[in-house]
Amino acid sequence: MKQVGIIGWRGMVGSVLLQRMVQENDFHNITAHFYSTSSVGAPGPVIDGVSYTLKDAYSINALADMDIIITCQGGDYTKSIYPELIAHGWKGYWIDAASALRMDERACIILDPVNRENIDRAITNGIKLFVGGNCSITLSLMGLAGLIKADLIEWMSVMTYQSASGAGAKYVRELIAQSAYISHHLSADELTSSGSVLPLVNKVSELINSSGMPVQSFGAPLMGSIIPWIDTDLGDGNSREEWKGEAETNKILGLAPGTIPVNGLCIRVGVIRCHSAAITLKLKREVSETEFAQLVVDSHPWVNYVPNNKEESISRLTPAHISGSLQVGIGRYKKMALNNEPIYSVLTVGDQLLWGAAEPLRRMLNILLNRI
Ligand code: NAP
Repeated sequence: MKQVGIIGWRGMVGSVLLQRMVQENDFHNITAHFYSTSSVGAPGPVIDGVSYTLKDAYSINALADMDIIITCQGGDYTKSIYPELIAHGWKGYWIDAASALRMDERACIILDPVNRENIDRAITNGIKLFVGGNCSITLSLMGLAGLIKADLIEWMSVMTYQSASGAGAKYVRELIAQSAYISHHLSADELTSSGSVLPLVNKVSELINSSGMPVQSFGAPLMGSIIPWIDTDLGDGNSREEWKGEAETNKILGLAPGTIPVNGLCIRVGVIRCHSAAITLKLKREVSETEFAQLVVDSHPWVNYVPNNKEESISRLTPAHISGSLQVGIGRYKKMALNNEPIYSVLTVGDQLLWGAAEPLRRMLNILLNRI
């Protein structure tokens, strides 16, 4: 059996990865080793009755024994360890959730329902670096796979509404702590009073901006607010998260850079889990809602078309409904009133910890186990 090292297993992505691997019996097909950057030698997870002891994620010798490494540890870890491991002569396969190496020419971005042919070609060509895509892009492409396969997209403007857990474990804890902080300062009388609501609104607004509000991780309140910047400032008006939109979309699809222009704004919202994206699509021709729905549902089994009406949209096309599900929702499809051009709006909602992160990694592991 292949020796598989798992790093970052207790983080936000890693814990969902483990949950999915257990659900799908993936551990029956590998000899697993768990690593830590912070608790070497401590007890790790217990899986199928087997207790694992944590190995040192910074030990090149300990890592070099692995045939395959899956890491959900983060970009800084990847940037420091991967080059050392390669310099050490390691010939194994590296599967990564972090963005650090996505645009590296040695890397294939993995999203097999959309680009399985690219993945197979990469393995045949000796590529050993496989990286999960940006969560928002991945989920949008999962929703739009049918239109991509039909070569119908001319350009896209993608406005994202990204959840707190997309930033990692300590960030989602902070959002919940912000909520708890506000609740803690409100009395039952204030919540149920039948008088003017303005005193309550004013008090909560003051609490949101007060010094007691926990904002150490995000740097700004998210509960009752939005944060209109994700990742670093590229200095040209774009965040790095926004830049990834076009760069990764084209790379995932195996297209030359800029073939499908993608632009937009990436916004952090006070959602626990699931990223949404309101997408404006310029199509190459008119596509009716019936044809759109057919293209979407025929593309792969992990997408749900939600008809563009209020009842179904508010019940089936929300993070609250989709959280924890492998189904990506797509709906609100309508033609925009812009010069009668084939420009449409659409909303995708998907669990960024599943198809946006963990699922492509565990599927890549299984693709490799069947090929090498
Ligand atoms: P995370 O929750 O911050 O976890 C990363 C590591 O932080 C853990 O493996 C753990 O490493 C350490 N850690 C320290 N304190 C922790 C705590 N209290 N709870 C859990 N872990 C703690 O990061 P993540 O969101 O999983 O992201 C990992 C990588 O995946 C990043 O590169 C990210 O950009 C990428 N990614 C994330 C998402 C997402 O939705 N979150 C989606 C796509 C890609 P040790 O056990 O070694 O200490």
